[in-house]
Amino acid sequence: VLSVKDLKTHFHTDAGVIKAVNGVSLSVGEGETLAVVGESGSGKSVTGLTVMRLLARTSARVVGGSIEFIDRGGELIDLLALSDPGMERIRGKDIAMIFQDPMSSLNPVFTVCDQIAEPIRIHQKLDKKQARAKALDLLRKVGISDPESRIDAYPHQLSGGMRQRVMIAVALACDPRLLIADEPTTALDVTIQAQIIDLLRRLQQERRMAMIFVTHDLKLVGEIADRVAVMYASQVVEEGPVAEVLERPRHPYTKALLECIP
Ligand code: ATP
Ligand code: MG
Repeated sequence: VLSVKDLKTHFHTDAGVIKAVNGVSLSVGEGETLAVVGESGSGKSVTGLTVMRLLARTSARVVGGSIEFIDRGGELIDLLALSDPGMERIRGKDIAMIFQDPMSSLNPVFTVCDQIAEPIRIHQKLDKKQARAKALDLLRKVGISDPESRIDAYPHQLSGGMRQRVMIAVALACDPRLLIADEPTTALDVTIQAQIIDLLRRLQQERRMAMIFVTHDLKLVGEIADRVAVMYASQVVEEGPVAEVLERPRHPYTKALLECIP
């Protein structure tokens, strides 16, 4: 579904060049989950944001590498060469991203219904009433038990955990082929966290969605992922099936990481 090769994303700041991503290669196939772990600042989020082309308003420059996406029709798309309108069509519909902070992807001036039902309406060519019904279904699926009383709320009127669920519903509204989840549960308490992980896993199996799951939590990796990529100092230093990497880590950073879990 996605293949990133030798990607280099550098920021040009007053203080100099920050090589945030400096030779990252990773790939994920249909129905597969790739976990990405790595220390803070190792370039995990910047990798995801580069794939989504969400760094346009920063000093970021992609100075090397390639990002190829294969869409549902089997067509190979060079995401770095794609026009802005072309990327706009892919973003959300084919590739969606969810974040640690739900407000970075929810729009504060639109209601939950606007943000979920509208894309469903356009994507599935439904009328407003049908789209609203689908949105209510989706909200129920992400664990909002009384969606009728929430669907007309604005994001700021919801609790943090609920916002997180709404963000996931927004991401799934158009049935993306690839979901990039950037520490989507770190800010939540453990019970909601477990529910959301379960939900993602279920939806992923149902829809054969590919998922890139960025996390600090090695326990989660074992639960959710097929393969794991370990990032260190702006590069992927180790990559492989979860069991193999967790049982026989090769890179010193992975070894150190594993020693930290009780
Ligand atoms: P964490 O686990 O803390 O989320 P991360 O692996 O996601 O860390 P990134 O957010 O990808 O780390 O950051 C990689 C590097 O890029 C860091 O040195 C960060 O300071 C830098 N960086 C990120 N965004 C910008 C930006 N908009 N402008 C300048 N530098 C940036
Ligand atoms: Mg990050």
